[in-house]
Amino acid sequence: MNDLVETLIRPEIQALKAYHVPDATGLIKLDAMENPYRWPEALRDDWLAALREAELNRYPDPQARDLQAALREAMAIPDEMGLLLGNGSDELIQMLALAVAAPGKQTRAAAAEANGEALGEAPAETLTKATSGCPTLLSLDPGFVMYRMIARFVGLEYVGVALSAAEFALDLDTTLAAIEHHRPLLTFIAYPNNPTGNLFDPAAIERIIAASPGLVIVDEAYAPFTDASFLPRLGDWPNLLVMRTVSKMGLAGLRLGYLAGPAGWIAQIDKVRLPYNINCLSQASATFALRHRDVLDAQTETIRAERGRLASALAELDGGQGRLKPFPSEANFLLVRTRPGQAGALFTGLREHGILIKHLDGSHPLLADCLRITVGTPDENAALLAALAALLDDH
Ligand code: PMP
Repeated sequence: MNDLVETLIRPEIQALKAYHVPDATGLIKLDAMENPYRWPEALRDDWLAALREAELNRYPDPQARDLQAALREAMAIPDEMGLLLGNGSDELIQMLALAVAAPGKQTRAAAAEANGEALGEAPAETLTKATSGCPTLLSLDPGFVMYRMIARFVGLEYVGVALSAAEFALDLDTTLAAIEHHRPLLTFIAYPNNPTGNLFDPAAIERIIAASPGLVIVDEAYAPFTDASFLPRLGDWPNLLVMRTVSKMGLAGLRLGYLAGPAGWIAQIDKVRLPYNINCLSQASATFALRHRDVLDAQTETIRAERGRLASALAELDGGQGRLKPFPSEANFLLVRTRPGQAGALFTGLREHGILIKHLDGSHPLLADCLRITVGTPDENAALLAALAALLDDH
């Protein structure tokens, strides 16, 4: 059995670690950038009435036309732009990668495995080195891990350009040099970035789009928490697409992402979409939710205000000794640097206090001693601060 697994499964897939989701049962969940607020009771009946109409015996509308219309209106997507829906924006990343990947071309990862070299989860900076001319997907590291994983799934080589150590800014010269060298088919820029929470300089992103021979996807998963966006810039360059999700605005359970851009691109990428990828319950629920967008916007506003309060409280926690350093964030989470060697103990200590956050130390050299904390409700944030105060006292 094991021999067969080793023979049949591609070596670069065997070398991957599966995307890990920790069990959060019974814990205050501040690990996954979810909106902590549920639907208000007052809207539940209307929502359930909308679901009651859903015909579970039929396949859903393959184009999800009502939902597309609701999204276009709610998000001000220009009429002349194409729109593609995914089962989460993760699925859109996969569709993009599938649409451009050239089967049969061996990736550097596969070549290294075949030569008996250990590549495994190589640190990002080694991947920026000159390589074999394989088709590449480029992004910035530390960044969203699915870009790297999906590149591996479809046989694209992943190139991660390191952000600069100073406040995780985009290193424009290095990024432009990497684009020139690797000629990536796809470049993903998360704006704001996960896990660092910052926005990159929009002028630098413009330079990247203009210099890129391939598609540039500005990933605005955290759009509800910032005023910055490239959505109004769609059409300014032929190779710009904007990707978003409803996950962070309060609908993570529905799994719905969307990709907007010039219709010619969207029509091609749509061909690799599996039929009926958005189920009828998600279509009905999201259409309903978007028609009540004011509710979601009010929740988002509360989270934005809480983010500022939480950042100040974290920085002040030990009477201003600076043992926790929150970085500026335009998202619904805060990246926090602890004193050297303390991140692991704080992460474990918080879990013992019933609070789950994300431990990032060890995941990338620039994230040494870092934790990522999703902004919760005022009560959840208060519990977090109290637990951290107790843990810091003990150290
Ligand atoms: N892009 C970024 C930058 C993210 O952080 C995430 C989720 N953490 C996603 C995309 C995926 O979002 P979803 O699949 O829930 O739409």
